[in-house]
Amino acid sequence: MSDCFLVQVAIPVPLRQHFTYIVPLPLLTTDITIGEQVLVPFGHRQVIGVVTSIQTECPMNIEQQKLKSIISRVNPENAIPAELIKLLTLTANYYQHPIGEVFQHALPVLLRQISPVKIEKTLAWQTSQDITLALEKLTKKRAIKQAALLSLIDKHKNITWPELRTLGYSKQQLTALENKQLINATEVIPKTFTWKEADLNSADRLTLSTEQALAVAAISQGKTTFQSHLLHGITGSGKTEVYLQAMEPVLAQNQQILVLVPEIGLTPQMLARFEQRFNVPVFLHHSGLNDKERFATWLQAKQGNAAIIIGTRSAVFTPCRHLGMIIVDEEHDPSFKQQDSFRYHGRDIAILRARQQNIPIVLGSATPSFESLANANTGKYHYHQLTERPGNSVPASLKLIDVNSQPLSSGLTPATISAIKHTLAKDEQVLVFINRRGFSPAINCKECHWVADCQRCNRPYTLHKAQGLLICHHCNSQKRIPKQCPDCGSVRINPVGQGTEQVEQWLSEQFTDHSVVRIDRDSTRRKGELSKRLEQVAEKQHHILIGTQMLAKGHHFPDVTLVVMLDIDGALFSVDYRAAEHMAQLLEQVAGRAGRASKPGTVLIQTQYPQHPLLHQLVNQGYTEFAKTGLQERQWAKLPPYSFQALIRAEANTPYLPEQFLRSISQLSLPCNLAGPMPAAMEKKAGKFRFHLLVQADSRKVLHQGILTILSAVEENDLNTKVRWSIDVDPIDLSW
Ligand code: ADP
Ligand code: ZN
Ligand code: ZN
Repeated sequence: MSDCFLVQVAIPVPLRQHFTYIVPLPLLTTDITIGEQVLVPFGHRQVIGVVTSIQTECPMNIEQQKLKSIISRVNPENAIPAELIKLLTLTANYYQHPIGEVFQHALPVLLRQISPVKIEKTLAWQTSQDITLALEKLTKKRAIKQAALLSLIDKHKNITWPELRTLGYSKQQLTALENKQLINATEVIPKTFTWKEADLNSADRLTLSTEQALAVAAISQGKTTFQSHLLHGITGSGKTEVYLQAMEPVLAQNQQILVLVPEIGLTPQMLARFEQRFNVPVFLHHSGLNDKERFATWLQAKQGNAAIIIGTRSAVFTPCRHLGMIIVDEEHDPSFKQQDSFRYHGRDIAILRARQQNIPIVLGSATPSFESLANANTGKYHYHQLTERPGNSVPASLKLIDVNSQPLSSGLTPATISAIKHTLAKDEQVLVFINRRGFSPAINCKECHWVADCQRCNRPYTLHKAQGLLICHHCNSQKRIPKQCPDCGSVRINPVGQGTEQVEQWLSEQFTDHSVVRIDRDSTRRKGELSKRLEQVAEKQHHILIGTQMLAKGHHFPDVTLVVMLDIDGALFSVDYRAAEHMAQLLEQVAGRAGRASKPGTVLIQTQYPQHPLLHQLVNQGYTEFAKTGLQERQWAKLPPYSFQALIRAEANTPYLPEQFLRSISQLSLPCNLAGPMPAAMEKKAGKFRFHLLVQADSRKVLHQGILTILSAVEENDLNTKVRWSIDVDPIDLSW
């Protein structure tokens, strides 16, 4: 044995380096391995870090006296697999983020403690008898949810509480079935588990359309190598069925599959289909789970017992013993990008990971990101299109409605109102989409035009009439609604513009025979409220739905045949070159909610700019053509994906400091192009003044060289502690 063991440790501090420690011999009763956690002295503290490399021979030049020793080894049985260490290191380099913070973000909270982690037994449910009769009874008694729960448990034996909860079932429903002795639970999560082909319910497979079959065949062909597949299928074209059938041969080999989704809680339908199709252990990772549940997922995936891991963004860092495939659903969704501290993109890391592990990855979307389409164009991704919906259901048709010189009622034109009437008369449902909560986005004085602004953000307060408050949507500060104008004393204070609350009020007053429901963050704050409201919509207890972005995801409303989109114009003139892409994606997603089954849907888009070429193209030629034009424009303007960007953000209590800080960076000799420093789109937020500097290069390599130069210069810069600054590689939001 060597007489000297040195280890490099990643420590959760904002420093872009590893730290070297000595491993004292008494701690070496067993070999220390990469990925182990260790308790180390750091400054005046003791912190837990992760061993990232080991040196068994000490270089002569190292002054060992100055090195500190590790204090203890922490839960060596929970060491982080080497593969994950490699991925995290790669990620830290890619985003130029401090390695220790990357580890901290990627690892479960429970792993970052000194005491051994107590693993709680998870309850797994199964049916205890033939359920045919019971199902009939429950259905007769209209206990629809209980019936659905019972047949799910029958399909998916050993389904666990976190899964059932995520799917929207309650403890009461579970207890009710248990009391009827229809189901029982066992406390087993076996130490090692393998699943069999018989568990894959292949009888439930749907007969694929030609397009679907081609996609499945292509994905399955490259089963054992790295290949990226872009599955571009209009909403309702059966992407999920393609995922399921592409997963089958992978699962049949006892390999694991990682599925990334934007938000599980909002879209349990997809999860439900996975659970019904495959009778294999599914583990979840999302913010609705507690630390213990998330740790269980981590462990079971690491041990190879979790067949399918479904999770949001950070699930991409789940260690998997035999990972066979990665699927990223709704790959264009901006929520895959973390927008603070460690600003990574879950989809992009997923691709890095698939390459590293030499496995296929499938990116699916009805509206692929421009980046992914560009990669499909160059042949980097295999491109599969699904252009039809199964059965006789046709996609919604889009129409522009000119709002200019029209009398508006709470933002709605007469043509829109008459379309709503017409739809309700046919006993079909209407969805009004407006991406703005509250009653109105501002209030002003009719006499002197004073506007109630938030002083900390220099932006208007949003009126929340029901709560009787003005709320700043940027910093959440609140204020009572003034009775009088503080400038001129007038009492003629009025709302300006519309939010969901106002549209809801107007429509309820107008269509008194019909029930109106609002679905936004305010109306669904209470736990279970969202799924309750969605269920009511499905049961047609409501005829008009008003909602924000929350409604754009995953939910299918077969009886909604009219969608009205208000207030999309902002994106046409945004400073952010991605705004139009995001607007188009949102529009298509919302449109996709409408008119399933055999009822065709119509989407009315109210706009002040019906002649705008972008809108025109989107409406008349569809997303694919729109994206083609968009990509051409990006190419001409040398914008991503035809160039590579990083955004340096800086903020402080005075405008002078961040600007000065960024100016010193912009004066460095860099191989990149720079834009700025300039004030952010929101120049002031929560009292802080914000500036940014955009760094751009023709290749990723050059961009990284530039960032390295910047980072070493920043370390020397006195201002670096006086401003809050960050580097965002591949930023997706330039209008912060
Ligand atoms: P997407 O994920 O593309 O929005 P889904 O996978 O949800 O679409 O499919 C929409 C509907 O079409 C679902 O109800 C699904 O069961 C059905 N479906 C998908 N593929 C087929 C098929 N090959 N044959 C019949 N029905 C299908
Ligand atoms: Zn006034
Ligand atoms: Zn504010």
